[in-house]
Amino acid sequence: MAYEETVNRLRSSFREGKTRPLQFRISQLKALNKFVEENKEQILESLKKDMKKPLFEVELSEFSLLKSEINLALNNLTTWTADEHVSKNLVTALDSAFIRKEPFGVVLIISPWNYPVNLSLIPLVGAIAAGNCAVLKPSEMSQNTEKLLADGLSRYLDKDCFAVVLAGVEGTTRLLENKFDYIFFTGSPNVGRIIMMAAAKHLTPVTLELGGKNPCYVHDECDIKNAARRIAWARYFNAGQICLAPDYVLCSDHIKEKLLSELQSSIHEFYGEDPKQSPDFARIISVQHFKRVSALLACGKIVTGGQTDESEKYIAPTILVDVKESDPVMQEEIFGPILPILTVSGFDEAINFINDREKPLAAYVFSSNSQVSSCCVCDMS
Ligand code: NAD
Repeated sequence: MAYEETVNRLRSSFREGKTRPLQFRISQLKALNKFVEENKEQILESLKKDMKKPLFEVELSEFSLLKSEINLALNNLTTWTADEHVSKNLVTALDSAFIRKEPFGVVLIISPWNYPVNLSLIPLVGAIAAGNCAVLKPSEMSQNTEKLLADGLSRYLDKDCFAVVLAGVEGTTRLLENKFDYIFFTGSPNVGRIIMMAAAKHLTPVTLELGGKNPCYVHDECDIKNAARRIAWARYFNAGQICLAPDYVLCSDHIKEKLLSELQSSIHEFYGEDPKQSPDFARIISVQHFKRVSALLACGKIVTGGQTDESEKYIAPTILVDVKESDPVMQEEIFGPILPILTVSGFDEAINFINDREKPLAAYVFSSNSQVSSCCVCDMS
């Protein structure tokens, strides 16, 4: 079986108990931190080559999140791993009763390309902290970062306990034939189904961190300028390739024009006259994704942006209006710098619109009316 040797090597280290001692876990977490610190320039360079990731975005969304996760684990490892007292009942009256946190064994981490450092290494922090051996399978789409992780981690982490597998769809399919003790997958719902089926063969527990269409409701009573700045920031960060990005906006006809104008001002303020020249605006990861996202520009009417350049995989920050619910842009997660604005009569229609669709990863509500924001929490199913 493909990759059997790698999995077996890790499994024997796990069986020997190599990853269990706290000192080992601490040393590996510190080694991971050292890898990031000593290779910062190379990481920045590979993220730039992969998708022209802006410097500030890398600092915020890759480095700082990862470093705080490593610190969180280092600071809490002793508490997290300590036995937990439980009260006894009739059945356990004669026993010593406690909860001991056991590592799973050899875990598989499959990560996506949009935050290829953070979404590969944060799950790895968890795996190390919990005393597991781990195989990391980064995305082949972010190919420069993928190779940097494979090369770097093999120099900093214990090779008998941690491995990076470079594989596309075919290779990952073969990798998944092996028995893992836990699978942590981040990616699309379609691939999530494939992972779950492969895991089911071995009854392997899984965590699936998936995507979806995140609605954004802007209520008539709200600070529209503030809402627009926040929506534009989150929609166009990483050129919209974020699982938690606001995917579409719902608002009433009454505030639509004002919201549009504030969104346009925000785009101008953030990315200047020509966003293509802005050092703060990323590119689409691949030609295949460029084509998929560009095709969505045919939906409704473009009021801002719409410019594309395939040679650079550039799609301008775009706003669409007059979009129909049946349009392709409303059928799939956009995962690109396009923001459709749809009108609803008010709060109740917005809630029904959202509840009629698949459960999103997040829903954003902008309102200065506390009753509206608290109602949203109760009414969204
Ligand atoms: P993807 O599902 O295409 O790929 C994710 C991983 O699965 C990659 O490593 C890829 O090599 C592997 N893969 C792809 N096809 C496979 C197959 N047939 N069999 C086995 N493995 C396969 O996702 P993506 O395009 O890399 O990332 C975008 C998606 O991830 C979006 O849906 C986004 O919302 C989601 N996402 C979710 C989160 C979260 O935390 N919930 C974070 C980031 C991204």
